Amino acid sequence: MRGDRELTVAVVYPSLLGTYGDAGNALVLQRRLQWRGLRARLVAVEVGEPVPEHCDVYVLGGAEDGAGRTAADMLAGDRGLRRAVAAGRPVLAVCAGLQILGHEVRTHTGQDHAGLGLLDLTTAPRAARAIGEVTGRPVGGWSADLLSGFENHRGSSVLGSAARPLATVLSGVGNGAGEPVEGAVQGSIVATYLHGPVLARNPALADWLLESAVGEALEPLEVESVTRLRAERLGAVRAHGRVRGRTTT
Ligand code: GLN
Repeated sequence: MRGDRELTVAVVYPSLLGTYGDAGNALVLQRRLQWRGLRARLVAVEVGEPVPEHCDVYVLGGAEDGAGRTAADMLAGDRGLRRAVAAGRPVLAVCAGLQILGHEVRTHTGQDHAGLGLLDLTTAPRAARAIGEVTGRPVGGWSADLLSGFENHRGSSVLGSAARPLATVLSGVGNGAGEPVEGAVQGSIVATYLHGPVLARNPALADWLLESAVGEALEPLEVESVTRLRAERLGAVRAHGRVRGRTTT
């Protein structure tokens, strides 16, 4: 990639979709570009502002049901994200972000609201909230390493045939409906229930998004603190012997 090109990482509605610190994913993307000598800029798109359609990668975070619904309503009236997706620009959507990119969301109080229909999935509440560490085996070969993250959600999402899972669940709940799978991938959208932030825990996932953004393979990058964090979190899951499907209320 030419060194004079500056990549833009858009954080969509950080104050609405910011409950779980998922804007940290944008920082991870920016840092991993900078560590490779590439220029990268964060663009925070606040509620009321149009979503720019020409950013290189977009991130949406998790939130409570009400904030998620407001974000879905705002995005429904905005063409920027839809156009970016139609152009194949990579998007990372976490938890409420995943839910609102789907067809429809039923909240924990039983209210239905439309999503953007960019992901072939629908969301409905689980009987119990899913909270805790998740470990998954990547689907589709995006990484040889395990997916690791922390979930905290009441919604469960069922994938339609146009979306494939991001991972199969080895421990924790994940999407929480049907097969034990986690997340969704469709076109240029990668969606997950995992916080952490998930890209700090999963550098392979960050680089997959970045390679899609820059349109070419990136040099491998070994960051000791990231390797340590992964070992610590995966080790903690093993030490506690968490089993698939365990939830707390
Ligand atoms: N409010 C949604 C739920 O509980 C999303 C939660 C989240 O973003 N972590 O399912």
